[in-house]
Amino acid sequence: MRTTVSSHESRSLRYLATLWMGGCVALGAVTVTCGLLEQELGTAGFFLLVIVVLLSLLDSFISSLIFSVAGAALLGYFFMEPINSFHISKPGDLFSLVAFLVTSIAITTLVRRIGRVEKTQRAQAQLLELTHDIIIVRDKNNVITYWNQAAETLYGWKKEEAIGKFIDEFLCSAFPLPRDELQQIFLRDGQWEGELVHTRRDGTKIIVTSRWALQRDGAGNPLATLETNNDITQRKHAEELLRKSQAQYFAEAQKLSRTGSFGWNVSSGELLWSDETFSIFEYDLAVAPSVELIRQRVHPDDMPLFEEKITKARGFTVDFTVEHRLLFPDGRIKHLHVVGRSASGQPDNRAFIGAVMDVTAAKQTEERLRHAQSELERVSRVTALGELSASIAHEVGQPLAAIVTSGEACLRWLHRQPPNMEEIEGCVSHMTDQGNRAAEIVQRVRALMKGAPPDRAAIAINDVVEEAIILIRRDIERQSDSLTRRLARELPLIRGDRVQLQQVLVNLIINGLQAMASVDGRRELIVQSRLDPEGNVVVAVRDSGAGIPEANLPQLFEPFFTTRSSGMGMGLAVSSSIVEAHRGQIWASNNPDGGATFSFSLPPSIEEEV
Ligand code: ADP
Repeated sequence: MRTTVSSHESRSLRYLATLWMGGCVALGAVTVTCGLLEQELGTAGFFLLVIVVLLSLLDSFISSLIFSVAGAALLGYFFMEPINSFHISKPGDLFSLVAFLVTSIAITTLVRRIGRVEKTQRAQAQLLELTHDIIIVRDKNNVITYWNQAAETLYGWKKEEAIGKFIDEFLCSAFPLPRDELQQIFLRDGQWEGELVHTRRDGTKIIVTSRWALQRDGAGNPLATLETNNDITQRKHAEELLRKSQAQYFAEAQKLSRTGSFGWNVSSGELLWSDETFSIFEYDLAVAPSVELIRQRVHPDDMPLFEEKITKARGFTVDFTVEHRLLFPDGRIKHLHVVGRSASGQPDNRAFIGAVMDVTAAKQTEERLRHAQSELERVSRVTALGELSASIAHEVGQPLAAIVTSGEACLRWLHRQPPNMEEIEGCVSHMTDQGNRAAEIVQRVRALMKGAPPDRAAIAINDVVEEAIILIRRDIERQSDSLTRRLARELPLIRGDRVQLQQVLVNLIINGLQAMASVDGRRELIVQSRLDPEGNVVVAVRDSGAGIPEANLPQLFEPFFTTRSSGMGMGLAVSSSIVEAHRGQIWASNNPDGGATFSFSLPPSIEEEV
């Protein structure tokens, strides 16, 4: 840094020394020349003044002062009486000398000031050359007076070619509004900004944003215009591309979603459709859309609705939504969902914009779904009827089978000699019990058919257990080695249908007996009743049979699930419906030591709790 400063100082010192020496030589030369040519004081003074002024252009005020004083000294010494002396004898000479000094200092100061102003202006003009903006100055007749470097680069013409040309013709300018109108606005406002199209030297068109500022003279008359332009051609092209691709995406999206759009000026009757709207109504893009064209497509059955909506829309500025069908000449039908939103609130210029959705596919799917649902309902009804019949057959089948077995046994005892009256009596009483049970079941089914509510009597569950065991005691005796009751005392009463609950227990016990039929070893049945932590009454039937394969567990309670060749798969399904009708739960599990346990729980009777 120091080095730079000192080298700069030494350079300026050298310049000063050279200037002063050169100045002295020039002044000396003029003096000698004037002396030799025996010129007068005035002539010598004039030439010396010229030299001093020229020298003053080369450096500061100090140098000008020194040269002025040196010039005055040379004049006084060589051209004033007495010659070759600094003594001045004539007062007039002294006045001339002072005049020389004052004139020389005044002129040098003025010349230097003018030089400085010029320098500043040149620097400022250079700045305008540096900018990337196109700067053009034109006079009041729109003739170019200034044309910067950026203008040369963009338009392709050099300064010399552009200056002096009438700008509008030179650049083949295209304006956004008539030229005269634009000029009036510009003169009124003193400025204007907008987009212009210019033609370059190579003939290509460019778009520029142009800003104009008006310069006026003291009287307010237009003097010149400063025009600053920026080339936005590429940006405009990119915007146009984007707009086009957006329009393309929009059209594609409309096609994909089968949604067209429209604009409807109710006041003027003008209707605008998107391409997709044309495609929905199946009209050629060339036709002019109109309400009449739509009317030609509307399904005759939907015409009143359509006319009503049109009349309303014409009368009020309210949004509308309408669903109607179109009927095409070939008999095809389309379902439309049309939504219109008010786009202008002025009564004299009412307009709607909206969307037309082709919902035919959705409508058809809806129709198919509705059809499938009604078919499902029909199948469910048939299935329910089948289940009911199967359930009746199953429930009534059990007592009937028991009656047949008892009847056969009865016959055998009768044929004995002597007939065993005790056994016969037992068989007949069993037959009567089973007959009664079958009758009760049939009665229940009839009540169910009539929609009669099930019996909701308060029942002690242990009684139901006992009754069920009595009903099938013969089967139990025959098919098991032991039946253990583990019935909890003082259980709360439950509310329900005694016969239905008996059926559940009979089903579970008979299933247990059947499961034990195929196993070796002791065939033990345990019937248990207890209270669970939630206060529900639980009944469990535990057997020592084959148990339930894991895979079958989830389907046990489904209708028609059976693993037995002669089974119907209704027993557990019916039991499950009965328990659920009593707001209870039923479940099955395998015992750790073999066999299965089927349990159900029932909520206690509320009155009992109170
Ligand atoms: P079905 O007795 O006509 O087969 P169920 O609904 O009563 O109809 O029983 C369905 C199936 O559940 C039976 O086929 C059997 O596989 C299984 N099952 C029922 N009870 C037991 C049990 N105690 N032990 C093992 N499997 C059983």
